[in-house]
Amino acid sequence: MEDKKTKLEAGWKLENSYSRLPKSFFSSLKPTPVRSPKLIILNHPLSKDLGLSIEALKSDDGVSVLAGNQIPEGAFPLAQAYAGHQFGYFNMLGDGRAILLGEQETPLGERLDIQLKGSGKTPYSRGGDGRATLGPMLREYIISEAMHALGIASSRSLAVVSTGESITRETLQPGAVLTRIASSHLRVGTFQYVSQWGTVEELRTLADYTLQRHFPGVEGYENKYVFLLREVIKRQASLIAKWQLVGFVHGVMNTDNMAISGETIDYGPCAFMDSYNEETVFSSIDKHGRYAYGNQPKIAAWNLARFAETVLPLLHANQTEAVKMAQSAIEEFTDMYNNYWIDGMRKKLGIFNKEEQDKSMIEKLLSMMQKYKADYTNTFCSLTIYELKDIATFKTTEFAKWKKLWQARLERQKETKSSTHELMRKNNPALIPRNHRVEEALEAAVKQEDYSVMESLLDVLSNPYDHSKEQSDYSTVVAPSNLPYRTFCGT
Ligand code: AMP
Ligand code: MG
Repeated sequence: MEDKKTKLEAGWKLENSYSRLPKSFFSSLKPTPVRSPKLIILNHPLSKDLGLSIEALKSDDGVSVLAGNQIPEGAFPLAQAYAGHQFGYFNMLGDGRAILLGEQETPLGERLDIQLKGSGKTPYSRGGDGRATLGPMLREYIISEAMHALGIASSRSLAVVSTGESITRETLQPGAVLTRIASSHLRVGTFQYVSQWGTVEELRTLADYTLQRHFPGVEGYENKYVFLLREVIKRQASLIAKWQLVGFVHGVMNTDNMAISGETIDYGPCAFMDSYNEETVFSSIDKHGRYAYGNQPKIAAWNLARFAETVLPLLHANQTEAVKMAQSAIEEFTDMYNNYWIDGMRKKLGIFNKEEQDKSMIEKLLSMMQKYKADYTNTFCSLTIYELKDIATFKTTEFAKWKKLWQARLERQKETKSSTHELMRKNNPALIPRNHRVEEALEAAVKQEDYSVMESLLDVLSNPYDHSKEQSDYSTVVAPSNLPYRTFCGT
């Protein structure tokens, strides 16, 4: 095995700007080679967007790069250092099983991180083996691509390669490497790491690097670090509102899993809620529901307060002033989030303009859904296509009363019925990655090496606002079982 052997035709146009940051920010090391890499899935549209040749990626050399066995020209492999509050407790973390190759310059001139996940031990692995298994990497692939298709900012999945090695979890599992794409892997935890163990100059270097990557053109701002803080807060408010609007539960909103770019990252124990319940939790380790569906906005605000603390030395020379500035920025999160959320809810109900009583109308619907355990996605979907038969909630007198309110509300706006319908169609997905569908796809892939179930699922999920006949098959809800659906970390 020799470096820089990858054929140029693959289209790699890599460099690693992170490697030019202070040495303490990362550890430079190569992925650990794997025994016999085999390409399981490759994202064709994303390959094209990245300027990569599908044929070249499928070739032995291409797969060898996706497995970490060859390093493409221009890459500078490294593991990023970061810290984080895990369930409220501060820890030193870092990429324990991921290697950042660098940033690919796309044909449109974007620069996107290329990271291999499951690529061996690093100085930050602590007790872990640095590896990942096939099922969970395919799960991240399916859910991150579904999120992207739903119009929610997210890291993307380029490929999953199986390694030909067995990994010890509860049972022996096939090993895999996921190639993950993100606009960066800068986290709240990256700032926490530098704030805790670095100098103020290093913190400034990190903040300047972040501004340059995500918020270019701020040089003229009076206080660019206040701008950074406010923008990060705004992007998170928008992101979390989108999660809530589709019923996505991230499951492990530790500060190290919150991206500065405002993208959803680190898909672990996440899943979509079926019946509407604020207390929905899937993660096996979230015993007290810290990261329950209904808590996500509060947790985001808590994480952002941790972020604000890290940048205090940059905000103002006088720390009392700096704290005031940070507090006023953080206080805006709740209003910002509520506005994004209510705007999204109005759209889900076909409402174009604003009326004071919209909030209470929306809350009435949600509380009926909670009371009657109505499926979140299918309720909005039925309202969209105006088929109000199959769901128990629709048969109640409470709903009949609510429907009158809603209909009267729609009549008070000037838009036509068809534009109302169109607005609802674009904001209520016909389908989400249902837990039983995802499990069925993973089981066929991992146990039978049959990838067709996953491919069909990915196909329907790529167009969630289509509302086609074919999709209705995928929106069926399974009868609630005695055993709740459970998800896991570090798999
Ligand atoms: P997360 O699940 O994203 O919250 O991961 C928390 C930390 O554990 C990160 O530093 C990961 O890199 C690390 N980690 C998770 N799984 C492994 C593993 N199998 N080997 C080494 N580190 C791991
Ligand atoms: Mg993580």
